[in-house]
Amino acid sequence: MIRLEKLSTSIFPPLTSNLNYKQMNKTKLFFVAIISAATLFVACDNATNNNNNEAKDTKAPKSCDNVHWSHKPGTDGPKQWKDLCTDFAACGGEMQSPVNIDKSTVVAEAALALPQFHYGNSTVDVVNNGHTVQFNVNGDNTVELEGKKYKLLQFHYHAKSEHTIDGQYYPLEVHFVHKHSDTDFAVLGIMFVEGKENPLFTKYLNHFPKKKGKFTSDDTIDLLSLFPEQKTFYHYDGSLTTPPCSEVVNWFVLTQPVEASKAQLDAFAAILHSNYRPIMPLGKRKVYMSAGK
Ligand SMILES: [Zn+2]
Repeated sequence: MIRLEKLSTSIFPPLTSNLNYKQMNKTKLFFVAIISAATLFVACDNATNNNNNEAKDTKAPKSCDNVHWSHKPGTDGPKQWKDLCTDFAACGGEMQSPVNIDKSTVVAEAALALPQFHYGNSTVDVVNNGHTVQFNVNGDNTVELEGKKYKLLQFHYHAKSEHTIDGQYYPLEVHFVHKHSDTDFAVLGIMFVEGKENPLFTKYLNHFPKKKGKFTSDDTIDLLSLFPEQKTFYHYDGSLTTPPCSEVVNWFVLTQPVEASKAQLDAFAAILHSNYRPIMPLGKRKVYMSAGK
């Protein structure tokens, strides 16, 4: 997840409001994304300590190597990501994620077919990279979306949710990250609500690395069992929600949430430390909804 550009200031709307999109600033620069698959979602793994201060007043490219970023407001928080280093500049772009999904403005699109899953069973490595708990999968698990095949790379969690629906947060959101090419990713987002115990969490929660670290298991997961029964989705074009915020993601947020118990959601939230990015302006984009059930 790498992208190059530069940019100027940006004004973020209030977290829970979708009313202020029109106020967002219109400054802009566009640029060409250069993606390195090898660094996708790994960039932040390298985060150790900040070395970004020294380059602050120069126009020379500021390397993102070892640049520390955080979900917490502050000098390395979400509003500052775009200025931390050259390759994070996309974080100030106009097609950023997450967004609020306003159901009253969603466009029903009959041509948007339901995803066709070709998932199997996979062993997983559970990795806490300091920003999320991520399940790295193996094998050839793919999904067909908009006529294209995307391969599942990993899934990971955010607490609270990153997307909101009609301004409402959910306690947890999982992102299934798929790749078609270096400039074409599909992320399927699933919301959680409080309810019955989630079998996957029961299996792994006690093993989730609470700090940076990895848990490897020989157990296999039936990947599709992690999805809700109904596969209808909201769709829009957006970005990675963590630096470098590359605008290469086709987002598919499923309309039906899945359940986890309150104790499980609380346990997860305690590990994840509010690792959600604030809502970004939808701008000129539209959110579509799939047909079918
Ligand atoms: Zn995510």
